Amino acid sequence: MIKIGIGYDIHRLKEGRMLFLGGVEIPSPKGLAGHSDGDCLIHAIIDALLGAAGDRDIGQVFPDSDPKTKGIRSTVLLEEAMEECRRKGMSIQHIDSIIIAESPKLAPHIPRMKDVLCPLLGVKRGDLGIKAKTHEGLGAVGRGEAIAALAQVLVKIEI
Ligand code: MG
Repeated sequence: MIKIGIGYDIHRLKEGRMLFLGGVEIPSPKGLAGHSDGDCLIHAIIDALLGAAGDRDIGQVFPDSDPKTKGIRSTVLLEEAMEECRRKGMSIQHIDSIIIAESPKLAPHIPRMKDVLCPLLGVKRGDLGIKAKTHEGLGAVGRGEAIAALAQVLVKIEI
């Protein structure tokens, strides 16, 4: 059976935080605020996977009230989400995603994001799309106050 899922996330940028996107650290004067490392691309991918599984959202599965996940790397949350997907017989056929950030320039970091994410997701590089774009100066993302991400996933479920 083929299923799809979509995910969206946005996090505020804050001074004194490291910036993590797609599981990699990116040099930047500000990073994403959050209970975890704030990696909104990974959070959008997890939400897309949960949607394809017919489950609830990331906030239900990994509540931000849980002291165990305080400061956790989102790659660890993704590993856990993938374990659950495999238990359900799900395999990812394709993921496409978009990161929306005014700065820094993200395109040079996309190959490293794929280095990290492809093995975690169990997909080939050609089965993971990551695009980076700006918000043309509009709204909170455009003013550089936040970074947002969208992800869409196509999965096969063996029953
Ligand atoms: Mg989030």
